[in-house]
Amino acid sequence: MIEINGVSKFYGTSQVLKNCSVKVERGEIVVVCGPSGSGKSTLIKCVNGLEPFQEGSIQVHGIEVGDPKTDLPNLRTRIGMVFQNFELFAHLSILDNIMLAQKIVLGRSPTMAEAKAMQLLDRVGLIDHAKKFPSQLSGGQQQRVAIARALAMDPLAMLFDEPTSALDPEMVSEVLDVMTGLARDGMTMMVVTHEMGFARRVATRVIFIDQGEIVEDRPSEEFFTASHNPRTEAFLGKIL
Ligand code: ADP
Ligand code: MG
Repeated sequence: MIEINGVSKFYGTSQVLKNCSVKVERGEIVVVCGPSGSGKSTLIKCVNGLEPFQEGSIQVHGIEVGDPKTDLPNLRTRIGMVFQNFELFAHLSILDNIMLAQKIVLGRSPTMAEAKAMQLLDRVGLIDHAKKFPSQLSGGQQQRVAIARALAMDPLAMLFDEPTSALDPEMVSEVLDVMTGLARDGMTMMVVTHEMGFARRVATRVIFIDQGEIVEDRPSEEFFTASHNPRTEAFLGKIL
């Protein structure tokens, strides 16, 4: 579903991704972890064409992200992206937040868009909050709305960039539970997170990235039990 091949990226003269290769098969959950500034967000942004890269190639569902002929806005509508800070539209109700792109980008009728939105609100446990505005919801609830909004576009894959990092601790699990449900339903996911419990329980593979380099890429159980790389051990020692 996602194939990253020898990707290098520079900001000016500083290289932030070094010859990175990752393959994510359909239905796989790949967790990406690593120290702050190691290039995790950059890697995720390259996948949906939010950041250009200078070397290598990335294919999503067979589409070349780096090809100038690729219709990036169209590709992005098929890749769900969830950020740390929710980024809901503050002036729209929860329901309208989930309906907007369905109507404007996919051309769905208001009836269809609303039915889809309500079905997704039910799935993330927020059916009673449809008429509220984002500011009336907790951080955990807002993040679940952001996930529902991304799912409304029927994405081929979902990318998460530290979806629980901005949340109060008691709200982390409600968001991880929704993501776990998605994983069980077969969604292809790349998840940047430091939630190693989630990684161990849910991920098929865990990737550790340090200074722009993919240091490890292993099945998740093996990552936690058999990895003796000093950089990985130093990182895990700090966060576990
Ligand atoms: P992470 O998500 O792992 O914390 P990032 O991908 O955000 O790391 O950043 C990787 C490196 O790229 C960091 O050194 C960061 O300072 C640098 N960087 C990120 N965005 C930009 C930018 N727009 N311009 C210049 N440097 C950037
Ligand atoms: Mg980041």
